Order: sequence, then C-alpha cells, then structure tokens
Amino acid sequence: ADIHLADEVLARLRDVPDFPRPGIVFKDITPMLADPILFGRVINAMSAPFRGQHITKVVGVEARGFILGAPVALALNAGFVPARKPGKLPHRTVIERYSLEYGADGLEMHQDAVLKGERVLIVDDVLATGGTAEATAKLATQLGGELVGFSFLMVLGFLDGAKRLGADRVRSLITL
Ligand code: AMP
Repeated sequence: ADIHLADEVLARLRDVPDFPRPGIVFKDITPMLADPILFGRVINAMSAPFRGQHITKVVGVEARGFILGAPVALALNAGFVPARKPGKLPHRTVIERYSLEYGADGLEMHQDAVLKGERVLIVDDVLATGGTAEATAKLATQLGGELVGFSFLMVLGFLDGAKRLGADRVRSLITL
C-alpha cells in the first residue's frame, strides 16, 4: 500500500473558501493533477479496491469525475461513461434530477452507455451530501447495470454521504 499517499495528496489540495458560493470550502484538486507522479499514484489507489471485481464500466461525473474516472477505467480494463449536466450529450439520454450541496441540478447518461448486467463503478473527486453520486447510481441501475461501488478521492465525512450510498460500497483515499 502507498502509505504516505493521503498526506501527500492533502498537501496538494487547495482549499478555496466561499467558492462557488459563500459558506462552501471548495476542494481544488488541480495542484494534485499537475504532478504526474502523484496523479498516477492517486489513480492507482482509486482503482486498487476494485481490481479483480470485473468492472466493465466506470461512470465519471462531470466534470472532475471525467478527469479521474477515465484513467481509472483504463486501469481496470473497463469502458468509460460520462454522466453529464443536462443538454450536453448528443444522443438519446436518461435523466435524473437531484439536489446538491450548492444548488439543484440534474445528470444525464446515454441510454446505451450501460448494458443490462454490466458491472459499474462510479468515480468522482468529492463526496459531500451524496446527492450527485446517488443520482448517477440511479441512472446506471435504471439502464440495467449492477452497481459494484463508488471510488472517491475524498469524502467529506461530516455530511454522511457515504451512509446514503451504502458505506460498504464507498471507497476513498481521504476522509475529512
Ligand atoms: P454532493 O452531491 O453533495 O455529494 O456533492 C458532490 C459533487 O459536488 C461532486 O461532483 C463534487 O465534485 C462537488 N462538490 C461538493 N462539495 C464540494 C467541495 N467542497 N469541493 C469541491 N467539490 C465539491
């Protein structure tokens, strides 16, 4: 195991107070992404709990879930599926509305992005209330996918998002 990784990542995350709204401390991952060695170790650590679990699709949540989810998909020999904000995907979609730590929104997935029986892993940078991840899970299971788990870089533990998703299915490198 990469025992110092969590501390090294914490040193390369930037807390931005009052972004995008007053009262939110935004966890900026761009300093971590800019370091190729650290970024690679993060992808390895986010993939590791799901190796050997026959994941066939990794769903990444717009936008930072794309950055982390695509390399996790490749590491697991799985396909990548984007879950996007409404109106962005060109083909037929399914949509799920949800409420967020800062506002309300929806997510869409292509109807043919997950096939019946596929084993799905959901990836994002931060788990807060769990609303976003829960909506993503609903999209994947609605299409017939089997939800194997969630991999986050960071869980904001005080918001109880993991409980909402089923704590046993949630993995993360850092819990704050
Ligand atoms: P939630 O649906 O409340 O779990 O919020 C998770 C989504 O919002 C993820 O897509 C995160 O990228 C984003 N998010 C929520 N809170 C933060 C935060 N404090 N810093 C950065 N991103 C956040």
